[in-house]
Amino acid sequence: MEKKPFVTLEKIQEIVKEFPTPFHIYDEKGIRENARKLKQAFAWNKGYKEFFAVKATPNPYLMAILKEEGIGADCSSYTELLLSDKVGLKGHEIMFSSNVTPAEDFQLASKLDALINFDDITHIDFYEKLAPFKETMCCRYNPGGEFRIHNQIMDNPQDAKYGLTRPQMTEAFLKLKAKGVKHMGIHSFLASNTVTNDYYPTLAKLLFQTAVELTKETGMHISFINLSGGVGVPYRLDQEPNDIMAIGEGVRQAFEEILVPAGMGDVAIYTELGRYMLAPYGHLIAQAIHEKHTYKEYIGLDACAANLMRPAMYGAYHHITVLGKEDEPCEYTYDITGGLCENNDKFAIDRKLPRIEIGDYLVLHDTGAHGFSMGYNYNGKLRSAELLLKEDGEVKLIRRAETPEDYFATLDFTHLP
Ligand SMILES: *Cc1c(COP(=O)(O)O)cnc(C)c1O
Repeated sequence: MEKKPFVTLEKIQEIVKEFPTPFHIYDEKGIRENARKLKQAFAWNKGYKEFFAVKATPNPYLMAILKEEGIGADCSSYTELLLSDKVGLKGHEIMFSSNVTPAEDFQLASKLDALINFDDITHIDFYEKLAPFKETMCCRYNPGGEFRIHNQIMDNPQDAKYGLTRPQMTEAFLKLKAKGVKHMGIHSFLASNTVTNDYYPTLAKLLFQTAVELTKETGMHISFINLSGGVGVPYRLDQEPNDIMAIGEGVRQAFEEILVPAGMGDVAIYTELGRYMLAPYGHLIAQAIHEKHTYKEYIGLDACAANLMRPAMYGAYHHITVLGKEDEPCEYTYDITGGLCENNDKFAIDRKLPRIEIGDYLVLHDTGAHGFSMGYNYNGKLRSAELLLKEDGEVKLIRRAETPEDYFATLDFTHLP
């Protein structure tokens, strides 16, 4: 596979006149096309809806684009709920899939009439003291054990803090039924960033079977099954991208096989994708500001792990393009670093790239999800701007860069001795 930036050197040279690097930039055209393909893949399901995982990229302008494509929001905190409300998402366009949930968060979710997904059986009693039960509620399921696809271990749900056990699911359904709840949803998230067309279909089978059992055991009507997030993107060139049409078709087959014969053909399929919706449609653009020749060859950027944490945190690979040198051979080996006083602040280690000169602009690919949003202020580094490359080629500032005043905004210096 090849990774081409959605911006050229000429475009970036024009943009930096107004908005200096580093910044994240998003591609509206790519976002919309991808969103439409996802909806097409699940068009066979009457109630299908995607709830964009807000934590991946909490920018209201991007959420508004997704809203125009019929996509809601998946929130897990008070501020994510507020953000979704500000974007104009209403009621069941918001899914609240939280854990270790504070009381105020449940109260706001209830007030907004969001779909509330309980992460634990004790949350039912906790919630009851705060807000009325709705006609439709949801529980997050954790099957325990190991989660396998074709006998390959994908993840270990038994070690995950999320969700209710299988016996707790039955107990929760009966409990909620007794409280007057009419319809239930089932949610589960068992593996992250999967690059296989079998993740959703395998998860769907498990959840559909569980749904049939739970309906038999409790008599509760199940109105939706939420496959949550986890459909990944190929960060590396050697990874085969997911085929969303094949994924949708795999879920459809499981649906026909398991739910339809059980008389449950009315179940809506929900998804809560974050990474898949936006990661490929964002770039972090940074400039080479230093070169250093010691025991290794270093290129220092004006961006750092505070702008993109994944390489430092997980050793994640992000492909890099040196703008204007797309066709030059990768004959040099560099560590590409940021300026944090942390040796793990490296965007790439021993990366083969064309010769980089000071002033060159670098594209860090696939930063549209879990990029800006994981940013932080360590070492007093400021959060960057976010820009939108619109379909007509115009560039719009959708979040300004932080200033030192923002960094100091929570401090009151007037009481210093
Ligand atoms: C993080 C998360 C998602 C999105 O995950 P992606 O890997 O970005 O698709 C969806 N639902 C919940 C509850 C999450 O925590």
